[in-house]
Amino acid sequence: MGNYFQFIDVPRQDTEKEPARARVQKFTEIYGDFSTEHAAAQADRCVECGNPYCEWKCPVHNYIPNWLKLIAEGNLFEAAELSHKTNTLPEVCGRVCPQDRLCEGACTLNDGFGAVTIGSVEKYITDEAFKQGWRPDMTGVVPTGRRVAVIGAGPAGLGAADILVRNGVEAVVFDRYPEIGGLLTFGIPPFKLEKEVIAKRREIMEYMGVEFRLGVDVGTDVTYAELEREYDAVFLGMGTYTYMRGGFPGEDMPGVYEALPYLVSNINRLMGFEKSPEEFVDMADQRVVVLGGGDTAMDCNRTALRQGASSVTCAYRRDEQNMPGSRREVYNAREEGVDFRFNRQPVEIVGDGQVEGVKVVETRLGAPDERGRRRPETVPGSEEIIPADRVIMAFGFRPDPPEWFDEHGIGVDERERVRVKKGGRHPFQTDNPNVFAGGDMVRGSDLVVTAVYEGREAAKGILAYMGV
Ligand code: FAD
Ligand code: SF4
Repeated sequence: MGNYFQFIDVPRQDTEKEPARARVQKFTEIYGDFSTEHAAAQADRCVECGNPYCEWKCPVHNYIPNWLKLIAEGNLFEAAELSHKTNTLPEVCGRVCPQDRLCEGACTLNDGFGAVTIGSVEKYITDEAFKQGWRPDMTGVVPTGRRVAVIGAGPAGLGAADILVRNGVEAVVFDRYPEIGGLLTFGIPPFKLEKEVIAKRREIMEYMGVEFRLGVDVGTDVTYAELEREYDAVFLGMGTYTYMRGGFPGEDMPGVYEALPYLVSNINRLMGFEKSPEEFVDMADQRVVVLGGGDTAMDCNRTALRQGASSVTCAYRRDEQNMPGSRREVYNAREEGVDFRFNRQPVEIVGDGQVEGVKVVETRLGAPDERGRRRPETVPGSEEIIPADRVIMAFGFRPDPPEWFDEHGIGVDERERVRVKKGGRHPFQTDNPNVFAGGDMVRGSDLVVTAVYEGREAAKGILAYMGV
């Protein structure tokens, strides 16, 4: 490190963000890139505090101070190799992790100096290393002759495939979608994560030896029994795709949309995957109300604004402090023009054959629920109607275990999440010893980085199970 007091001399400075007025005209990423000098100066702000809380708070336990030091010293390729030791998708996590709640939230410099820009440096390392021709070092890999089928090319499946091929195991990844990435491609909008990033990652993983069989639905195009016969083990990373509903009148009225199909219709149009123009949901010139307060709700708000909605209002039943999503994304949404209505619980979607508004009641926060979050209680007599032409419901997702789970002894818990062993020699093994699982379908809808972690840990469990 150059100057120990760099954190005082050089303030925290993130990558440049495009002004709100310009960025809502398009779907490209809103943050720019670090130059080499800028990345080095920001990385050099790390004080190597000796207690890397950032590392512990990072779900994949990245060696953060070590790769910050390498970047401060100008060793890009070494930093890329080290960064890939713990994370399969560092360029993705650098873009979409809620760093304010994870690594950066735990940085020692948060005490008044401004955390090190860990996420932006992580993104810089992989983007720049790829640009300069770096590839993961696979020279020491010895083939084992073992084969594992991975169902799902989302972050969990990619995490598992990464560890398997690095240990000489053939990984064949099946996905029903025409591209890899799961929700990274068909969910998260391009203003947070451009699709070229995932295309590059596909190229890298294919270079590493991962085989993708896309447009293949397991259960329809190929049966699970066939996979079990052909492969030594199976990893499930199939995500959560049952939409939660509010359970109030008017949810089925024309003009009401589920969040994920809405976002996917927009992505399909942008990527040229649209099968017919009727699939596209257009919010141009509409008064849009988004119900929910998580990342999915923020993405709907900001997609609707980019489509030219005349207004976008986001109603959430708790207060701003208790929103589940990233604070940075709420800030960005507000900058772009979203009108937030906190402590508002929807009770009915009103209209005469077509949406005219959302009836909400005011809430105040009561006693904590079983997860420690304060439960909203409604204030009597506080109803009001928020006028709307279109309503998007973003209440989250539940797992949807297919029927073949039962036939093959793959058990689920009371919330339909796949039941796995958490510790022992074979972490993430399901009730069927040949089958491992991780990501959203095991923990419920969560984060990219936690899905990557579970995929990687499950793959280590598979290696131990196969005796590799
Ligand atoms: P998924 O990403 O859902 O991947 C599962 C894959 O399995 C899919 O590709 C699916 O097609 C495939 N599949 C399922 N069944 C079959 C079958 N039978 N045959 C073949 N293939 C099958 N997280 C963040 O960290 N930051 C964010 O900013 C963020 N924003 C989000 C925004 C939205 C709109 C959404 C919906 C989620 C967001 N998340 C975010 C959460 C994050 O995307 C997920 O937690 C993560 O993608 C879960 O990874 P996964 O691999 O478990 O599942
Ligand atoms: Fe931070 Fe996420 Fe990167 Fe971990 S993976 S260092 S939490 S941005």
